[in-house]
Amino acid sequence: MTERYDIVVIGAGPAGYTAAIRAAQLGLKTACIDDWRDEKGQAALGGTCLNAGCIPSKALLESSEFFILARDQGAQRGLKFSGLSLDLAAMLAHKDKVVSDLTRGIATLFKANGVTWISGRAKLLSKNHVEITAENAKTVEAEHVILASGSTPVDIKGAPQDGRFIVNSQTALNFEAVPKRLGIIGAGVIGLELGSVWRRLGAEVLLLEAQEEFLSIVDEQVAREAHKQFTAQGLDIRLGARVLESRVEKNAVMIRYQDKNGEHVEPVDRLIVAVGRRPNTQNLFASETGLLLDEWGFVHVDEYCRTNLPKVYAIGDVVRGPMLAHKGMEEGAMVAAHIAGQVAQVDYDIVPSVIYTHPEIAWVGKTEQALKQAGLAYRSGVFPFAANGRAKAMGDAAGFVKILADKDSDRVRGVHLIGPHCSELVAAAVLAMSFGASSEDIALTMFAHPTLSEGLHEAALAVSGRAIHVAQPKRTKP
Ligand code: FAD
Ligand code: NAD
Repeated sequence: MTERYDIVVIGAGPAGYTAAIRAAQLGLKTACIDDWRDEKGQAALGGTCLNAGCIPSKALLESSEFFILARDQGAQRGLKFSGLSLDLAAMLAHKDKVVSDLTRGIATLFKANGVTWISGRAKLLSKNHVEITAENAKTVEAEHVILASGSTPVDIKGAPQDGRFIVNSQTALNFEAVPKRLGIIGAGVIGLELGSVWRRLGAEVLLLEAQEEFLSIVDEQVAREAHKQFTAQGLDIRLGARVLESRVEKNAVMIRYQDKNGEHVEPVDRLIVAVGRRPNTQNLFASETGLLLDEWGFVHVDEYCRTNLPKVYAIGDVVRGPMLAHKGMEEGAMVAAHIAGQVAQVDYDIVPSVIYTHPEIAWVGKTEQALKQAGLAYRSGVFPFAANGRAKAMGDAAGFVKILADKDSDRVRGVHLIGPHCSELVAAAVLAMSFGASSEDIALTMFAHPTLSEGLHEAALAVSGRAIHVAQPKRTKP
């Protein structure tokens, strides 16, 4: 007999597993189908995020930061380490353990919530039939289907991957040895995070970025500070670089690229291609379904993640919007709620972004350049961590907090941070913006001392020239 479900979710990454768990919490009979296999060939939940993205990269970022803190700052703080050395295998094993704990955690959550986990590859045959290719191939029936098939790294002609010398971000999380010289195509989020990991562990890192502008998605003032900091750390960032060819020769990769000064050849030991990701739509649905893709190949959806097929939804990286785990999770929860007849929405104007380098970069809302471009008048308040007691005590005082507020209403339009623990600090900014806060609301809020979050308070005060711990422009008496 054909299995029947209220909801079938295709994909168990953060978008899909969140949708499945919330649907089950709402009393809907739910199955989640996923085809991920780990290195041992075992089925694993969590998608790219848990298996090859957010989590393993953050485990390596944390461990590598720990390593250089001990090496470079220990003595100055009165801690002498003798014979400090890197055990890369142990570092990778720690990362793998974090990953397996978390992926097994999702399996436990599925069980606890009554979600049926089906391991295999799924294809939408009609709006309520899903075919599963697995050991026991079958077709299941669903009242509603949620497509959450995620994304895959983009390949480029100039750097054909061989899985050993020229690799994608997944393989680059598992290098068996620290490359002496590492090349990375793309100085975007992955390029900078993975470049930071391997640089800290001792590699010379060369980043080749096609755009002339560094980190164009980020507020320009933050991007300038980031460029300064990363260059000082030894990341060799070359902008306006177009890779023409990458060839493996005698255990090295020869990269031929072009910039405004002409053609160059650079040898590296390993080359990571990190030029973006594309949606997983191949073989996801039968063409007879008539499912619409948008002009960039993402599944076409409206603001509630409804596709053009009734009762078929799509969420996460496979649809428009930033490719971020938390954006997919919120969409998953929203869609499950909708199906259960509840009211829910995602505020796409307040999606936080973080780059987990050192210093960390985080932001929410509009950048200064976007406000200028839109012709919106604003006031800006900036507070440097160099004037923050906690940051000084931590010995980690590079960077700043910047708040952009509407010139007339004072409503916060954007918050941009570069500095210590900004991935955590941005949450307060998201909360403030979610409640429609003005910079004055933040300025009137009490923050614990000494904390990094006082930086937010001071930046809000600086919007009206009232920051306490940094000199403000002279004002005439009221
Ligand atoms: P995915 O996580 O890609 O999951 C989709 C799942 O569906 C996969 O398991 C896939 O195998 C499965 N699947 C696909 N097609 C089928 C099919 N036909 N049948 C069955 N199963 C199928 N984002 C952040 O927010 N923070 C970070 O710090 C961060 N770091 C990252 C670091 C790296 C190195 C990378 C690569 C990405 C990172 N991301 C980060 C992005 C984040 O991983 C993605 O945005 C997120 O995983 C998308 O979630 P998803 O559920 O849409 O898709
Ligand atoms: P990205 O879009 O962040 O960066 C890709 C970079 O490659 C861009 O700067 C682009 O200009 C450049 N590029 C494109 N084609 C090129 C070429 N031919 N030669 C040289 N440079 C080229 O993409 P990514 O770093 O691959 O990351 C993919 C997605 O994963 C991102 O959208 C991001 O949202 C997500 N991600 C998020 C995090 C995080 O939240 N911390 C971490 C990693 C990945």
